Amino acid sequence: MCNSRMKRCIFFALLFGLAACETVLDPYGRPIEAPLGMPGGDVAGGGGTFSLITPQQEIDLGQQLAAEIERQQRVHPDPQLQAYVDGVGQRLVAHVTRHDIPYSFVVIDSPDINAFSLPGGRTYVYTGLMKLASNEAELAAVMAHEIAHLALRHHAATITRQYGFEMLTGIILGQNPDERSRLVADLVGAGIHARYSRDQERAADELGMQLLANAGYNPEAMLTIFEKMRTAAQTRPNLPIFASHPTTGERLQRLQALLQTFPVNVRADSPIYAERYQEQALSKI
Ligand code: ZN
Repeated sequence: MCNSRMKRCIFFALLFGLAACETVLDPYGRPIEAPLGMPGGDVAGGGGTFSLITPQQEIDLGQQLAAEIERQQRVHPDPQLQAYVDGVGQRLVAHVTRHDIPYSFVVIDSPDINAFSLPGGRTYVYTGLMKLASNEAELAAVMAHEIAHLALRHHAATITRQYGFEMLTGIILGQNPDERSRLVADLVGAGIHARYSRDQERAADELGMQLLANAGYNPEAMLTIFEKMRTAAQTRPNLPIFASHPTTGERLQRLQALLQTFPVNVRADSPIYAERYQEQALSKI
């Protein structure tokens, strides 16, 4: 199989004289290609761009942004709910090949239908989105898509391209509070996510569905939650997640085709955990 990701991988391998590619097979024998060992930056999966901030800078930047977001937004006060959602996230993270960032998950108490991940590993899930999901697998599907953006190193490349290396290092050093606020506003709104390329979105859907199945959830949940988001967008079109992740008919068709690549028993028998979700999430939000 010689796809564009593999070609790009080989290109960077030649450029740096490194064996930069590793091919990992998922449990169904399909290849997952992960670029490895990039000095001073990483190849962004699906986007074809080259990031200039290092993983450590990405983590430092994420911490700055998280502090600002958690000042502005209401973190849900129930520790059991937080632990439950973090548990769902960690079950998915157990199947990623990127391990140089700490993955964490935080519930924001807000009616907005929203979820996004920060550079450096933190993902926020809004209670408005959690209410739209009717089982744990649907929540996990959205989280898996966000984890996939992180695992495929989309953040560093996208924000470096958008904001520039100097501005980002200024924010990391705490020298640039106004720019930090602007970046946070972009992250909470559609700004940064709207700049993910279509290739990056496709790659995040693809890896996300794989993570979902590998973690033992029914991969069909990705299709059902995106269908619900599409319906919700018809009455609440101005919410940021719809601008950043438009659920078009084309996307649903693509997800449907992707679903067919999983074995019949995985599609038929994998659980969605509706009762557990009711008890541990819906009853508390
Ligand atoms: Zn996305």
